[in-house]
Amino acid sequence: MMTGEQYKKSLYDNRETYFEGERIRDVMKHEHLADCVARIAAGYDRFYKPGANAVSDLMAIPHSAAELRDRIPLLHESDIVANVTYQAIMTLTTAATRIADILPEFSKRILEYVRDAQRRDIRIVECITDAKGDRSRPPGKQDDPDAYTHVIERRKDGVVIRGAKLHITGASLCHELMVIPTKAMHPGEESYAIACMVPVNSPGVRIVDTTYAPRHRDLRDFPVSAKTHMPEGFVIFDDVFVPNERIFLDGQVAQAAIFAHSLGLWERLGGLSGMAEEADQMVGFAQLIAEANGLAKESHVREKISEMIIHATLIRAALEAAIANCQVTSEGAFPNELYTNAGKYHGAANYNLMVRHLHDISGGSVLTAPSIADFENEVTGPLVRKYMGTMNGVDGEYRARLFHAIRDMTADAFGGWKAVTNVQAGGGLYAQRIVTRRYYDLNGAKKKALHVAGIDMGPDGQKTGH
Ligand SMILES: Cc1cc2nc3c(=O)[nH]c(=O)nc-3n(C[C@H](O)[C@H](O)[C@H](O)COP(=O)(O)OP(=O)(O)OC[C@H]3O[C@@H](n4cnc5c(N)ncnc54)[C@H](O)[C@@H]3O)c2cc1C
Repeated sequence: MMTGEQYKKSLYDNRETYFEGERIRDVMKHEHLADCVARIAAGYDRFYKPGANAVSDLMAIPHSAAELRDRIPLLHESDIVANVTYQAIMTLTTAATRIADILPEFSKRILEYVRDAQRRDIRIVECITDAKGDRSRPPGKQDDPDAYTHVIERRKDGVVIRGAKLHITGASLCHELMVIPTKAMHPGEESYAIACMVPVNSPGVRIVDTTYAPRHRDLRDFPVSAKTHMPEGFVIFDDVFVPNERIFLDGQVAQAAIFAHSLGLWERLGGLSGMAEEADQMVGFAQLIAEANGLAKESHVREKISEMIIHATLIRAALEAAIANCQVTSEGAFPNELYTNAGKYHGAANYNLMVRHLHDISGGSVLTAPSIADFENEVTGPLVRKYMGTMNGVDGEYRARLFHAIRDMTADAFGGWKAVTNVQAGGGLYAQRIVTRRYYDLNGAKKKALHVAGIDMGPDGQKTGH
């Protein structure tokens, strides 16, 4: 396993990263990336175990519902790149299990890679979302054939790929890029059915970063994003060579979607567990600010908070159902698809309403509360403390700190990131609707409806009268 120091050293590998028009020469000295590196390194130190065969508690494969559940608090306390690495490890394990009968060689290769990645204790990010060009057209019918990542050249020892994967969280701070097809492929699209592992410093890999990092350096005004922000990478594969031993799918169009579906399951479980935690936090903020404003007993405020409590409880229940109903195989424990997708959808689809309740209850100081430094200024400090206070026992700075956390979480750069991420990450609401419908027992529901209507089922299970 790696220590934090070893992780930091591993980043000096000539990776090609850009930010706002300039090449980043040293990620550890960059204004918006240095503290991300420090957080990832701290995570390494926290989970470090000596020994050649040691595996991080974050990277180990869960084998039961209890192990799936126990992993969640560890992930919540970890950085996003560690979370994504766990999801990548589980995606590969899930895909290997699902293709084992049809593509045993690739399945074996994937599982060997997983063991090796665990041993090397590397960080992996998920590169699935292609540039995609005209969304109404398939990969092979785009004006630009590179709109979806594809194989452009075949060599005896490997392939050369070209394309771009967008919105790749933490790409410039990881070691390897897990490249998988973004959706199902069809005959004629063989060159797009490519799954492989690419070291981030491979010649031709170029990453353009964006960030929702705090917009000034006094992090006390950004209590949420200061501890969580991570760069989002626009990852370009500008003719990148991939050796044979790192290829996990190559032209088998019928199996292309298995990788995306496997990733969707783990992405959405991660999203669901994150939303369960954040929903509780939002209830907490709503109640605290209502109390600080003197309105906790007001009926319309109580109703909104009750609605937020129901939302938080249902998300938590879906998470619990997804884990309790997991499928246990010899390769590991896999969360239940139906509850994972339905829960993630419900949480994401109703998130904005919960934010609206929180903003409605809180008032305008969510946006305008003076900074903590203003409380420390000898002229403004006593004045802002006086006027931000509301009653005996509610100090102005305490109330301002609540507002800063609410703004940072829901109404500033991180809040905007969160609002879009909730809807899009894990494949978007549309994808979650499709998967939920696929795993729901629709025939069972029809039978129940026929029974209630008093319409007989025929011996072959078909309804009579038609
Ligand atoms: C902050 C953030 C982090 C992310 N992290 C990662 C990551 O680490 N790795 C990764 O691979 N991806 C990541 N994603 C990408 C995420 O999965 C995509 O944003 C999502 O799948 C939507 O793709 P898109 O952004 O290209 O939007 P589009 O595909 O353009 O979708 C926009 C809308 O159009 C609809 N649509 C698109 N195509 C069709 C069609 N053919 N028919 C009907 N409707 C259609 C969609 O359902 C959606 O409603 C991240 C996204 C965000 C916002």
